Amino acid sequence: MRKQIAAANWKMNLTYQQAESLVDNLLALPHQLAAHQEAIFAVPFPYLTMVADKLKGKQNVYVAAQNCYTKKSGAFTGETSVEMLASIGVKHIVIGHSERREYFNETNEILAQKVDICLENNMTPIFCCGEPLSVREANEQDAFVAKQLKESLYHLSADAIQKVVIAYEPIWAIGTGKTATSQQAQDIQAFIRQQLAGQYGETVANNISILYGGSVKASNAKEIFSQPDVDGGLVGGAALIAEEFNTIINSLK
Ligand code: PEP
Repeated sequence: MRKQIAAANWKMNLTYQQAESLVDNLLALPHQLAAHQEAIFAVPFPYLTMVADKLKGKQNVYVAAQNCYTKKSGAFTGETSVEMLASIGVKHIVIGHSERREYFNETNEILAQKVDICLENNMTPIFCCGEPLSVREANEQDAFVAKQLKESLYHLSADAIQKVVIAYEPIWAIGTGKTATSQQAQDIQAFIRQQLAGQYGETVANNISILYGGSVKASNAKEIFSQPDVDGGLVGGAALIAEEFNTIINSLK
């Protein structure tokens, strides 16, 4: 069975002290992760080791980075390499969040390089894709997302693509309070899986976790996650509240 994942994306939020309290409060709440379920916390770089320390010994709970650089090492002031992240025990990196595509000009080609360097370092990329509102209004979301997948992922072997987690995040639903309906999420995520099956075969496609992201909260997580092609969520705002995110973890199927 493919993994069901609740991934928190803290973005550029919280002081160190607030981050400590959030993790402490969350870990004090009751949650139980089955063998096929994971909780992941994508936190700002300065908090990675602190959060990793607090999660030590917890089963199926991981800390993740929100970004990495395309190069192995060298004169790239201000950047963080995958090797550095691996050396502090990070195993997951969010790649290609729409905010990075929009504000930092990350193209499908750059993201293909980031996916590659993650996989070379045994790191799981959580690869984000999803369309802006104008594309959804023109009902062209399938072609838009198919292009993102093709240009950033389809150079991978069948073995390698199964190590990628895909997060479908319609940009119009991120941080807006506007959630895709569970049917809209299911429709496009079934389409994504179909595309993967066309490229790699059904067995491979069925092994790949596809998360939904876009205003997931405690009150809608269960319904969204219950869809057959939704394997959990990537969660921004609601992941900053311990009780909300804990309910989201407990909504995994
Ligand atoms: C996100 O940051 O990836 C996200 C989906 O944010 P939100 O849950 O706040 O919409």
